[in-house]
Amino acid sequence: MSLPRLLAVLLCTSAPLTAQVASSALKIEVRRALPADDIPQPALPDTAKLPRVLPVNRQSVYTRCETTLPLIAITFDDGPDPVLTPRLLDLLKQRGIHATFFLVGKNAAAFPEVVRRIVEDGHEVGNHSWSHPLLTQLSAEGVESQLRRTHDAIVKACGTAPLLYRPPYGAVRATQRARIEKSFGYPAILWDVDPQDWQHPRNAQKVYDRIQSQTRPGSIILCHDIHETTIAAMPATLDDLAARGFRFATVTQLIAYTTPPELMGPPAPKHLPMSPLGAPPPATAGEGTAKASE
Ligand SMILES: [Zn+2]
Repeated sequence: MSLPRLLAVLLCTSAPLTAQVASSALKIEVRRALPADDIPQPALPDTAKLPRVLPVNRQSVYTRCETTLPLIAITFDDGPDPVLTPRLLDLLKQRGIHATFFLVGKNAAAFPEVVRRIVEDGHEVGNHSWSHPLLTQLSAEGVESQLRRTHDAIVKACGTAPLLYRPPYGAVRATQRARIEKSFGYPAILWDVDPQDWQHPRNAQKVYDRIQSQTRPGSIILCHDIHETTIAAMPATLDDLAARGFRFATVTQLIAYTTPPELMGPPAPKHLPMSPLGAPPPATAGEGTAKASE
């Protein structure tokens, strides 16, 4: 290797900042990418003010949202965890980022105070089944029970009805999906960015690297807030996505914002009551809309 080439390589490999990730139980250093990105930075809306109602004419399944704007949704599955989820909520709050949590019903029932805090902090809650089975192996009644118990546990914990679900392992049959949509009004939310943060050996650096390399405008990022390494990867991951110009919305906000206005349906009447937590009630249009109360 020539000297200039060697110098260039050395410069490239030494330039990235090393982030000391704050974590009481785990110290992981995440090597950060150079903040170089070509993403244009058009005027983005204040994500805190984006609508939290699904469009009337929405899709049945989303793996991502079509947009050229650098708006993305980060999602956390399988919680809430009584220790790790609050730690993640602190990280998100420090950064003013709103995420979406696909909750496992039995965990929501076990840790309702964490569910409450998730909603109070302005995040979205979604249904991820009661006990995380492979839905494709269940009867129609089994699927209904998995989602109903979870829906009710979330409403009981925080007073807000989920508008979305994510099938465990991303697996659901088309017929099951149609029934779920009819019964609950939920679209199925999958993902296009998968850091495989559950995989052994778990590694915060890989979580960071995969998210950075796969994320693009409209992405839905899959993470799990039940792994130490995922939480440890978050400060650098979130900060560097933001530094690259990405802005975070909840999944419902991302869908609503990226859906053409003519498909959004009529605006909600102003006299609709707000929930005790200040979140607007779920969409009332369309059949089988999720219930707002127990
Ligand atoms: Zn899961």
